[in-house]
Amino acid sequence: MKPAPFEYRRPGTLAEAVEALAGEPNAKVLAGGQSLVPLLSMRLAAPALLVDINEIPGLDTIEIEDGGVRVGALARHAAVLASDDVRRVQPLVPMALSHVAHATIRNRGTTVGSLVHADAAAEMPVVLTLLGGSLEVEGPAGRRTIPAAELFVGPLESSVGHDEVAVSAYFPGLAPGAGVAFEEIARRHGDYALVGAAALVEGESVRVGYLSVSDVPSVVDLTGVADADLGEAALAQLEPMDDIHATAAYRAQLVRVLTGRVVRSARDFAEGAR
Ligand code: FAD
Repeated sequence: MKPAPFEYRRPGTLAEAVEALAGEPNAKVLAGGQSLVPLLSMRLAAPALLVDINEIPGLDTIEIEDGGVRVGALARHAAVLASDDVRRVQPLVPMALSHVAHATIRNRGTTVGSLVHADAAAEMPVVLTLLGGSLEVEGPAGRRTIPAAELFVGPLESSVGHDEVAVSAYFPGLAPGAGVAFEEIARRHGDYALVGAAALVEGESVRVGYLSVSDVPSVVDLTGVADADLGEAALAQLEPMDDIHATAAYRAQLVRVLTGRVVRSARDFAEGAR
């Protein structure tokens, strides 16, 4: 199918992009287009205006800041995945990104776009949530920071305003001696996961975040839980959803299996880091 007609603008500055969005309530930002363009083509989205941010300079940066990683709105998944700095400072980011789609999509799709898109089956929202990261956005009222815990509000729904441009995402770095791991089950590598899990082990603290289990990323605290009980303890804090891709019972079984596996891997990582 062809998209419904829309107006297209390609501003050269962030201020012009914000102004364009403010003038049309039914406008959408276009970043990598890897989620938005299919939605337009299927007419699941029909914005009156597309504000293409690809010409705005300075948004494609990947920088180490306060021991974490700041990823600009035009940094492509592939660039973030290939960054040695990112791998050193927060290895969970490339661990998860290697499961995002395929190389051609990662060459164009942006990590920040994936966060704004807020797909419950996407890898990066759960990584940002587990790490306690944030998204920086700019709108008519200026710049604000949205903590990950307030960013994902429903299926394909983030708290970024319709008149705001996400400028960057901040992923906190890994503390010395801590461990991380990422596991997912998908029908084929690169497909959206049926269930995925990311673990963060810091001293006694054990936390696991899940994608594709509910409408928004879910993080559970498994500190002090015996290894044999990890899966059931996680399930007690989750309500796996039922959809056309998998039943709730199947997702519950994947949670049982992946939780033990991902926590063990994160502990191994932490042991290796000591
Ligand atoms: P776009 O498609 O340009 O935009 C997506 C949405 O976010 C739009 O609503 C847009 O308005 C908004 N947006 C984007 N950037 C900004 C911004 N800076 N400020 C405000 N709003 C913004 N993703 C996964 O996580 N895991 C997968 O396994 C996976 N598999 C895929 C398989 C296929 C076949 C395809 C086509 C895509 C897949 N994706 C997957 C999606 C991919 O990761 C996208 O790149 C990503 O979801 C969106 O990034 P984008 O830059 O392409 O955003």
